[in-house]
Amino acid sequence: MTYDNVESRQAGGPVPDPAEGARVHALDRAHLFHSWAAQDGVDPIPVAGASGRYFWDYDGKRYLDFSSQFINLNIGHAHPKVVAAIKEQADRICMIASTFANDQRGEAARLIAELAPGDLNRVFFTNGGAEANEHAVRMARLHTGRPKVLSAYRSYHGGTSTAISLTGDPRRWPNQNAGGADANVAHFFGPYLYRSHFHATTEAEETARALAHLEQVIAFEGPSTVAAVVLETVVGTAGILVPPAGYLAGVRELCDRHGIVFIADEVMSGFGRTGAWFAVDHWDVTPDLITFAKGVNSGYVPLGGVIVSDAIYDTFRTRPYPGGLTYSGHPLACAAAVAAITAMKEEGIVENAARVGEQVIGPGLREIAERHPSVGEVRGLGVFWALELVRDRETREMLVPYAAGGGETRPVDEVVAVCKARGLWPVYNYNRIHVVPPCTITDTEAKEGLAILDEALTKADAHVA
Ligand code: PLP
Repeated sequence: MTYDNVESRQAGGPVPDPAEGARVHALDRAHLFHSWAAQDGVDPIPVAGASGRYFWDYDGKRYLDFSSQFINLNIGHAHPKVVAAIKEQADRICMIASTFANDQRGEAARLIAELAPGDLNRVFFTNGGAEANEHAVRMARLHTGRPKVLSAYRSYHGGTSTAISLTGDPRRWPNQNAGGADANVAHFFGPYLYRSHFHATTEAEETARALAHLEQVIAFEGPSTVAAVVLETVVGTAGILVPPAGYLAGVRELCDRHGIVFIADEVMSGFGRTGAWFAVDHWDVTPDLITFAKGVNSGYVPLGGVIVSDAIYDTFRTRPYPGGLTYSGHPLACAAAVAAITAMKEEGIVENAARVGEQVIGPGLREIAERHPSVGEVRGLGVFWALELVRDRETREMLVPYAAGGGETRPVDEVVAVCKARGLWPVYNYNRIHVVPPCTITDTEAKEGLAILDEALTKADAHVA
């Protein structure tokens, strides 16, 4: 089997072994309990290997990864420097409790704090994004002595109890019946000009009205009861919604006025995804807490955390922080973070994400939109893009409705099926296709994926009124 991808060949490339693929699939179905799924419908592709922007199955079928897996693999598959750092660390020390000082843990925290804006100088490490949000909210509540947290309806903040309660998208609904939901969360609408909740027709109007709405929610919840506003800087799964100019600064001002902690959830938007180290860098806004995970080490070993301002750190100088994790600052995960951040700097990977977005993906998607009446809007930045699909460009009726299930998802399922058949692995959510490849993607690879998407979208066009 020959492939034109150099990294695939270096990694040995796909060597078909269907019998082993069948065994791996059977093992999964016999013993795995899958996330977010009715178990009988689960039919995972057994993956044999991965390199760069590609992964392949045991039949030798290769996929261009326009998903970065769970939008976390910012540095791509099998980056040699990160793999080497994990191996080296494994030889030195795999586990040492967080009560001890460890070189990789300290260096990872230093690098992360150095990248963060303002006086966010300390890092509390977790294993992932949901835990990071749990701890950020806990810190905010203890710091302010207030119970409530406000978050956006169009959001995803994680699958644990407070994080899923913060989450606005429909994954919250069944969890509220499952016990353990955090009752002290209220939701608001953030800016989304294409489907403005505020009847706005310009960005400036959307910013002003979204801020006025948030101000009212704070007023009606009672400012003295609100500990934090939690926001994805660029909303990810719930729409790739880039905030209009002035919105984040306005949230910062509202929080300052009422003594509310501003938590920026950069779990998805951080570490290069938007073409900046943190998405807040685009708007020069400094939150009080930043939560991160995913791209910090591209998930080679699970890692997340909270970057903490000096003021909030000071609250816990003499008062114990009532929270911790066995694996907080795991040495293998931290060594992977040090290597990933260092490689991203050395290789200009964040700059690459910005450039590919500006020069290839953005223009490419806008050209695609001209050819396909099903594309209602193209939006994004860096390697963080969405195509919003509609039945009718005038009415903007969604091609697949919000919270759709069953047969309602068919128009987008058909697009996705063509992408997968042609070797492109996309992300989709209701009526949106997300283009979220690794930050390391080349122009040629981006164009290869866009060409497949272009072809696949004829399926969506067939449903246009
Ligand atoms: N916050 C955001 C913005 C996310 O996108 C996610 C995961 O997709 C999370 C939090 C939860 O992260 P994790 O799955 O690592 O718990």
